[in-house]
Amino acid sequence: MKITERSIAGYERVLIAEEESSRYHAVIAVHSTALGPAVGGTRVWQYPSEDEALHDALRLARGMTYKNALAGLPFGGGKSVILSPGSGFDREALFRAHGRLVASLAGAYITAEDVGTSTADMEVVRRETSFVGGLAGLSGDPSPHTARGVFRAMLAAAAHRWGTAALAGRTVALQGCGHVGEYLARELNRAGASLILADVDSARAGKLARELGADVVSPNDIYSAAASVFAPCALGGILNDSTIPQLRAEIICGGANNQLLDSRHGEALLERGILYVPDYAANAGGVINGCCREWLGWSPEQTSQKVEAIHDTIAEILRLADRDLIPPHAAADRLAEARLAA
Ligand code: NAD
Repeated sequence: MKITERSIAGYERVLIAEEESSRYHAVIAVHSTALGPAVGGTRVWQYPSEDEALHDALRLARGMTYKNALAGLPFGGGKSVILSPGSGFDREALFRAHGRLVASLAGAYITAEDVGTSTADMEVVRRETSFVGGLAGLSGDPSPHTARGVFRAMLAAAAHRWGTAALAGRTVALQGCGHVGEYLARELNRAGASLILADVDSARAGKLARELGADVVSPNDIYSAAASVFAPCALGGILNDSTIPQLRAEIICGGANNQLLDSRHGEALLERGILYVPDYAANAGGVINGCCREWLGWSPEQTSQKVEAIHDTIAEILRLADRDLIPPHAAADRLAEARLAA
C-alpha cells in the first residue's frame, strides 16, 4: 500500500492511501486528539476525484471534533472516506486494507460505520486493528440513540421558544423516514405531537404514516408544511437560499448532518426568527452511545443519562446565542472551542 502523508494546517494527521490489488483508495483525516483519540466513522462514497474525497474527509473530521467536544466526550475528531471502486470489487480485501491504514495510526484514530459501511465491514476492519467500534453485539445500532437525543434537543428548543418543554399538540414536519427519522417519529407520536412526513421513498413514508396516523406530503412540499417544528432527518445542505424562504416552522431540529448549506444560512434563519438547533449538538446520541458503551465501559443507564443530557447542552447553546446575539450554530461552535481550549 502506498501511503502519502499530507501536511494540512489545522489537522494533526492526514493520510492518503492507495492499494492496487484491493482497489483501495482512501483518506483518513485526524483533526484533533486534544481531548482523546480521534473518533469518526468510515464513509464509502462515489467521489469524482481524490481532491473531493479529501475535502469531505477534512470537513467531516473537524465536525467530529466539535461534536465530541460539545457532547463532553473524552475523544477527538477524525474521519475516513473511501473512494468507492464502483462494482465488482472484493469488499473483504477493501476493508482489510482499510484496517491496515487505521492500524498505522496506532490508536490516534478509532473508526466505526458511516454512510455506505456496515457492522459486517467493521468486523473485517477488526481483523487488522482493534481501533474500530460499531461492532455487532456491542453498542449496536446508533439510530435509536441519535433519535432520542434529537427528541431531547427538540424539548429544550420548545422550552426556549414557547416556555414549556412539551410537544403535545404541536405539529412536526419530518423529512426522511429512515433509521433516525422513523425512531424520531415514534418518539414524537408518543409525546402527543402530530406528524407530517416526507421521504423520496413514498412507500416508506406511507407505511409509517398509516401506523402513526400521520400525514404525508411530497419531498418538495415538506419545507412549506404547516408545522411548528421542521425535523430534517435525510440529507445535508437542505437549509439554503431556496428552502429558507419556504419554511413555516418556528423551530428546526433534526438528525441530519450539515443541515446548513453555508454558515450564512444560520444567519438567514435568525433573521427570519426561526430557531435553529445546531445539528451536531442535537444528533450526538449515536456517537455518545458508541463511545460510552464500547470505549469507556459505561453501563446502559449511565450512557442513556448522557444522551438525555443533550437537552441541557442545547438549552445552554440557546441561552448563549441569545446573550451574545449570535445564531445558535455560532454559539455551539464557541462552546465546543471553549471545551477544546480548556
Ligand atoms: P437513512 O439512509 O436510514 O435514512 C435517510 C432517509 O431519508 C431515507 O429513508 C431516504 O429515502 C430519505 N431521503 C433521502 N433524500 C431525501 C429527500 N430529498 N427528501 C426526503 N427524504 C429523503 O439514514 P439515517 O441513518 O436515518 O441518517 C439520516 C441522517 O442523519 C443523515 O444525514 C445522517 O448523516 C444523520 N445521522 C445519522 C446518525 C445515525 O445514528 N444513523 C447519527 C448522526 C447523524
